[in-house]
Amino acid sequence: MSLLTVRNLVIDYPQTRALDGADLELRQGETLGLVGESGSGKSTLGSAVGRLLPGAAVRAGGEVTVAGEPVFDLPPGKLRHLRKKHLGFVFQDPIASLDPTMRVGAQLRLVLGRGADVGFHLGRVKLDDARVVRAYPHQLSGGMAQRVAIAMAMATAPELLVADEPTAALDSQVREEVLNVVFSLAADAGTSILWLSHDLPAVARRCDRVAVMYGGRVVESGPARQVLGDP
Ligand code: ADP
Ligand code: ADP
Repeated sequence: MSLLTVRNLVIDYPQTRALDGADLELRQGETLGLVGESGSGKSTLGSAVGRLLPGAAVRAGGEVTVAGEPVFDLPPGKLRHLRKKHLGFVFQDPIASLDPTMRVGAQLRLVLGRGADVGFHLGRVKLDDARVVRAYPHQLSGGMAQRVAIAMAMATAPELLVADEPTAALDSQVREEVLNVVFSLAADAGTSILWLSHDLPAVARRCDRVAVMYGGRVVESGPARQVLGDP
C-alpha cells in the first residue's frame, strides 16, 4: 500500500521554482533514499510531506497524500492530527528541533505525555546516561542531541519518518551509530523512512529504494543497488 504519494508537485519561492513537477511514491514499510545535488529540491520535498514549507514557499500545483489524506487540502485540526499520528521529522541540526530553554527530560515528557518512561525512550536511542535527562540541549554533543531528536520523532511510532540529512554534520563514527539507531528503531516500529542525503554509500547500504532529484524533479528511481551500484 502506498503510504506517501507526491504527484506533479510544484513549489515556488519568490525567486525560484524549487519543485517543478516532482513525483514520488513510498510504500508502507519501505526505506527510500532521496538523493541529488544541493539545490535539487530534496528539503523542499521533504518538508512538503508534512506541509511544513518555509513561509515564503507556495504550492503552485500538484498534490501530496499521506495515508490517503491530501495534506494540502486538510483543515488545520486534521493536518495536526495527521502529523501527530503518521509523521516524524528529523533535520540536520537537532538543536533547531529542541527547545533551548528546557531540560531534555522535561521536553521528552512533554512529547511523550505524563507517566511516560523517559529512560526507556532514551535507551532505545542508546542514551541511558541520567545526565542527559538533566542537560539542556546545547550541553549535548551533536550526536547525542541528534539521538534525543530521534527519540522524540520516533516516540509516537510514526508510520513515516522524514529524515533531512540528520547525519550530515556528524563525524563518521558517530554517523554510523546514529544510522544504526534510526534504521533499527524504524524496523522495530514498522516505520517507513524517507531519507534525504548526500551520502550515496550510506543510502546504497541502508535504503531499499533510491529516488534521484535534479532541477526540482525526481528523474530516476528504483532499487538502491540498481540506481547507485554496490556501495
Ligand atoms: P541543503 O542543501 O543542505 O538543503 P542549503 O544550504 O541549501 O542546505 O539551505 C540551508 C537553509 O537555507 C535552508 O533552510 C533553506 O531553506 C535556506 N535557503 C536555501 N536557499 C535559499 C535561498 N535561495 N534563499 C533563502 N534561503 C535559502
Ligand atoms: P536541496 O535540499 O536539494 O539542497 P532545497 O529544497 O533546499 O534543495 O532547494 C531547492 C531550491 O529552492 C534551491 O534553488 C534553493 O536555493 C531554493 N530555496 C530553498 N529554500 C529556500 C528559501 N527558504 N527561500 C528561497 N529559496 C529557497
